[in-house]
Amino acid sequence: MLRTLIIVLLVYLALKALFRILSAYFFPRQQRSGRVDGDSGVGDDLLVEDPYCKVHLPKQEAIVVRDNDGRPLYFCSQKCRDAYLAQTKRSA
Ligand SMILES: [Zn+2]
Repeated sequence: MLRTLIIVLLVYLALKALFRILSAYFFPRQQRSGRVDGDSGVGDDLLVEDPYCKVHLPKQEAIVVRDNDGRPLYFCSQKCRDAYLAQTKRSA
């Protein structure tokens, strides 16, 4: 009886450890950042929206343009940037 309990406990612990290893392998970001926000390097992973085609892309890969108010605009490509700027010029 006691042996059965020990075996069950061992299997449980083994599965728990295995699950931890697997989740750390598949979701490394989640484990790393956790609830700590605004600390080192979190901003680099931020997604920004292309105001022209509405695509979301990592800030690092975006083409940044400052508008007249100095606010940054992020574009997925030069094509979108040019099209957006042409559009805003026309409407202004
Ligand atoms: Zn775009």
